[in-house]
Amino acid sequence: MAFDHQLFRQQFPYFQHNENAVYFDNAATTLKPQVLIDSTVAFYQSAGSVHRSQYDENQTALYEQARARVKALINAESEDAVIWTSGTTQAVNIVANGLLAQLSADDEIIISEADHHANFVTWQQIAKKCGAKIIVLPITDQWLIDEQALQQALNERTKLVALNFVSNVTGTEQPVEKLIKLIRKKTRAFVLVDAAQAISHLNIDIQRLDADFIAFSAHKIYGPNGLGVLSGKLSALEQLQPLIFGGKMVDRVSKSHISFAPLPYRLEAGTPNIAAVIGFSAVLHWLENWDIEQAESYVRQLTEQIKVRLKNYPNCQLFESPQPSSVISFVFKHIASSDLATLLTEQGIALRTGEHCAQPYLARLGESSTLRLSLAPYNNTEEIDAFFNALNNALNLLE
Ligand code: PLP
Repeated sequence: MAFDHQLFRQQFPYFQHNENAVYFDNAATTLKPQVLIDSTVAFYQSAGSVHRSQYDENQTALYEQARARVKALINAESEDAVIWTSGTTQAVNIVANGLLAQLSADDEIIISEADHHANFVTWQQIAKKCGAKIIVLPITDQWLIDEQALQQALNERTKLVALNFVSNVTGTEQPVEKLIKLIRKKTRAFVLVDAAQAISHLNIDIQRLDADFIAFSAHKIYGPNGLGVLSGKLSALEQLQPLIFGGKMVDRVSKSHISFAPLPYRLEAGTPNIAAVIGFSAVLHWLENWDIEQAESYVRQLTEQIKVRLKNYPNCQLFESPQPSSVISFVFKHIASSDLATLLTEQGIALRTGEHCAQPYLARLGESSTLRLSLAPYNNTEEIDAFFNALNNALNLLE
């Protein structure tokens, strides 16, 4: 059945409450479907925690079912390899701190200009703590990680390579599977894939990718805020020292001895974000009804339409991904992006402007700020027309 974008749109109450708004900031966070709201309300109308008491068994079952759904989403090795975090950022921090005991001043950590600060800053800080050398790979004029530079950087000292999967700045998809093969040929380094943007756009099979760790946030795939996933190979996850200590992550505790619980609990100290986990599970179940590949091809067509129309403006410079994507970054020469964004926002266009938590990327683009539109399958051509109408009004004032 063809993807019905109107029916999809109807699942999101935002549009009933914001009739003329145009939401083009989906790379920041997606809108929330009614199933998430219903599930969250139902949770807060119930009582109890999970894994604590006999009476919370039903809740615990729902909570654990969510792991099975994430496992299916990314083809994780096991449900025990699905670790709840507060988001991509926390997942990366769990990996970085979890490996700290294995890192020393002789080691090298590879990141790239394509990285979001969640990776860039975290690995820089970890390198400072252990004295390891940070190598920042350049990206090419097509915004792809420079493979030759990667080849040259890899050696027996390489301990970890962090790979951005899809850029939040340009929408560029890195050939992660190919890059990981290359890394495996030359080193025994851990590979972490930042799938924060990829998760809602690509069919991810972590086992085929052969990544050790993968991180993403639920709020970027129609799920709740404050929830993310760290997954990966059990053999790699088992090597992580817990970042946070406390209840439920231990097996036995006495005055003189502590043994930790097995995965996934070992990395999930404290009462979890149960409402978010159960809500995300409802979202993943609901997502099974939609042909995500068709939805994605629809989004790419919309994005292409915007690119074609933006190219008609002689002063507009686009930073395009080499493949079709759902993200467009652009600037208008001689106009401050923030001024343009203010006038667009006043006309009901929700978009992002600034550095996109990726200052090294922006430096590579030679810009201090870009405007970014990022689309989702509930967007439509009427919204594109509204955007261009607002853009023309803004340019009339500013040019
Ligand atoms: N990585 C990428 C590529 C992102 O786009 C983002 C968020 O925009 C993150 C990491 C961080 O995600 P979060 O803020 O949900 O932890």
